[in-house]
Amino acid sequence: MAPLLELQDFHYYYGNIHTVKGINMQVNEGEMVTIIGANGAGKTTTLQTISGLTNSKGVRGKIIFDGKEIQGFHGHKVASLGLCQVLEGRHVFSKLTVEENLLTGAYLRKDTKNIKEDLKGIYKRFPRLEERRTQLGGTLSGGEQQMLAIGRALINKPKMILLDEPSLGLAPVIVKEVFKAIREINSEGVTVLFVEQNSKIALNTAHRGYVMQVGEVAMEGFCKDLLVDEEVKKAYLGG
Ligand code: ATP
Repeated sequence: MAPLLELQDFHYYYGNIHTVKGINMQVNEGEMVTIIGANGAGKTTTLQTISGLTNSKGVRGKIIFDGKEIQGFHGHKVASLGLCQVLEGRHVFSKLTVEENLLTGAYLRKDTKNIKEDLKGIYKRFPRLEERRTQLGGTLSGGEQQMLAIGRALINKPKMILLDEPSLGLAPVIVKEVFKAIREINSEGVTVLFVEQNSKIALNTAHRGYVMQVGEVAMEGFCKDLLVDEEVKKAYLGG
């Protein structure tokens, strides 16, 4: 079966700066895949470009989602195909309530009558959001904002979600909670690709991983193998 998401000889240029240098990646339906690597390796650029959030002039190569070439598509078009990026928690609308924030995620939906039901599903997954449904987004804790950002992507009923550093700025206990939610979402059938600085938690969560180094894929494999690889251990897992 063809992968749900595939990058073929994908490059990204910020002007003359060749940031991502011809990478190939596949994510199969139902999988959870992570991209790890040092600062500046090109992880965020790759994720943002898949989501249509970078300048399309810088893209070379192919990005194929669900059988369709999507390189150069705008973000809303990509999202409408069922590929949704979970923007970092700090991108929640601070002056909107939790519920209003969640509903902004549903703007692409045509089946509006089911939205209420789906809101309930999101509150069931994140009871903390239900308790705080009338609270302003800007007053939530970092972890709650991250959950809200995930909920906002889920209300779109995506086939696949992309997350950029879900652990960023969160206390360890909250990181565990957020990754537990991501695992559950994946086990319910949503394909997941996430970028993560915390290589240990990334490789302990995902099925497969790609290690990026200065714009290239230096290594790839099952996380269980990467976790015991001497080079990965030395460079990314603190020995
Ligand atoms: P980090 O973990 O630090 O976010 P990353 O692997 O996600 O790193 P990117 O953010 O994709 O890396 O950055 C890759 C390279 O592209 C870096 O050298 C960065 O400075 C450069 N870069 C990112 N955004 C721009 C931009 N708008 N204009 C020019 N160069 C950029």
